[in-house]
Amino acid sequence: MTPKISDTLAGNAFAAGEASAPDLMRAIIATATDAIIAVDPEQRIVLFNPAAEAMFRCSAAQALGQPLGRFLPPGLRAAHHRHVVAFAATGDTARAMSRLRPLVALRANGEEFPIEATISRVEIAGQIYAASILRDITLRHQHDAALQHQAELLDLADDAIFSWEWEGQIIYWNRGAERLYGYTREEAIGQNGHALLRTRFPKGIETVLSTLQREGTWEGELTHTSRDGRESIVAARLKRVDDAAEERLVVLEIARDLTAWKAVEAAETQSRQREAIAQAAATAAASARDHLREILDALQSGVMLMSEMDTRIEFANAAMRELIFGSRRCRSTPPAYGRDFTFARYDGIELSPNERPAARAFAGKRVEHQQLLLRRPDGTTQPVEVFATVLATGDAGPGRAVISVHDLSRLVQAEQFKDDFLLLVSHELRTPLTAIHGGASLLLNKPHLDADERRELLRDVVAESERLERLLSNLLLVTEVVGGRLRVSTEPVPIAPLARTIAKELADRNPNHTFLVAAGPKLAIAEADPSLVEEILRNLYENAVKYSPCGGMIRTEIEEAADRAVIRVRDEGIGIAPEHVASVFERFRRVGGDPHVRGMGLGLYLSRALAEAQQGEISASSPGVGLGATFTVTLPAAHDRDLFATQP
Ligand code: ADP
Repeated sequence: MTPKISDTLAGNAFAAGEASAPDLMRAIIATATDAIIAVDPEQRIVLFNPAAEAMFRCSAAQALGQPLGRFLPPGLRAAHHRHVVAFAATGDTARAMSRLRPLVALRANGEEFPIEATISRVEIAGQIYAASILRDITLRHQHDAALQHQAELLDLADDAIFSWEWEGQIIYWNRGAERLYGYTREEAIGQNGHALLRTRFPKGIETVLSTLQREGTWEGELTHTSRDGRESIVAARLKRVDDAAEERLVVLEIARDLTAWKAVEAAETQSRQREAIAQAAATAAASARDHLREILDALQSGVMLMSEMDTRIEFANAAMRELIFGSRRCRSTPPAYGRDFTFARYDGIELSPNERPAARAFAGKRVEHQQLLLRRPDGTTQPVEVFATVLATGDAGPGRAVISVHDLSRLVQAEQFKDDFLLLVSHELRTPLTAIHGGASLLLNKPHLDADERRELLRDVVAESERLERLLSNLLLVTEVVGGRLRVSTEPVPIAPLARTIAKELADRNPNHTFLVAAGPKLAIAEADPSLVEEILRNLYENAVKYSPCGGMIRTEIEEAADRAVIRVRDEGIGIAPEHVASVFERFRRVGGDPHVRGMGLGLYLSRALAEAQQGEISASSPGVGLGATFTVTLPAAHDRDLFATQP
């Protein structure tokens, strides 16, 4: 009987002990995780342990006695057979225990799978047996394939992916790293990465390593130098990995080349800057334009810009718009000659196209002080003075003319005013002069007049000459005020005594009127020019008399309140209609409407100017026509009042 191979194998290996060697061997074979199969010289299976049963999905009962080839893919059977025969004969094999070789085997269900096998040759009772230990490496294959897959994936990545040991030695290097840095995998692996790439860390390698120690990751920008010396800025992400199997610290690094991106970014920044500069220039130009427009709009004179090509007005400033449209408001379209206005001569005849200011300027003629009428579509006209000049364009483009238009209405009004004024003044001067002349002539030519008649005539002559003198002094003062030549020299002026003196004078001349001067307990002393205060009081008293034709009381109240000396002159005369109260201080303004009352409308205008020249004010009030009027003058109170400690 053929000895059992398991017994035989065991017998060679073990010394006899408590448990018999064959039993121990059987137990080992039965519990081994590797499949153990032995074949006889005919290559029939004589040993098929439980691990082999599991591996080949075949029971030992079915396997024993079967040819080994049954567990090999059909294509390999012949070669395997030859190999085993040769092995049996020579004992030579490439599959020694120490040199595992992958093989393909066949399960009972027809599934092929990778194995690692070792084979040994056993001679028992002159028979050569072969024993093989097999390991299913399907899982490992799958694992390797997955790893391979991952490695290929890493190679597909555009980024440079590499890893280095804590000390810097490179242990992995993908295709992306090859592309970015120019070193092949073979060249890079084993090198110190920091040295190879001349890495520049933002704050030194130590900071990066300590962050990796502490947090496990680090991100930031690094500068690497490639094989060709080119520097690249990379966005790097580093991760610390503890390789427990190898008992080492490994750093995985993914680096993305930012050089191109940085260049794009720099270009973008540059273009943004250029845009900003262009924008700023445009804004500056716009603001200069706005500024210019503002300046032009602030001008009192009308200004228009006219194109030679189509005599179209390209721009009209606010004053020009006001002249034409009566409003400074900006319109969507500038005014058009012919539609919105025309120019005419002073005699009303419209200018021919060649006579128009712009046409004359384009024809090279001087257009200065051209006095014209600006005529609007509604027929209204306005006297204007026109200047036109051609702009130097500096290129061959269409010419442009600037036309400036000054409103002469005020000047014309002033001329009219002057004429009226001269007429008024001469009339006003002539009346007293005629009276004086008449009185004096009578005195001269009628020697037989009695004493009373002579006195009456003389009184008239004196009164009219005083009136003439007042008139002239008023006119003189007005010219000083208007011409800015009025001299004011202030001093403390006690108001009441001054008012009393003037009131008495007027009372003497006007027996129909009663003058009363009432002063408050506190002596009112103004810091004023006494001659100007006198002028004001005289004007007010004369008006009070003049505009109280039926006589009556003229009351002056004087007080000092809140650092002001206040003088109130109240009469019982014709009063002032409420709508005229505000205008009585205007120059040449006479609101009473009574042609028999003489006057030039200068007294109150002058009084206001004189009061204001002394930092004072004057105002009028009246309860209404026929109810008398009150004029109130306030002047600054004097600071230095020691000289006037007591009321006189
Ligand atoms: P004039 O008396 O020469 O007309 P004024 O400037 O002194 O000029 O006065 C201006 C106008 O104010 C007068 O024409 C008159 O209508 C009105 N006015 C001035 N004083 C009085 C007054 N006391 N009562 C009524 N009206 C007055």
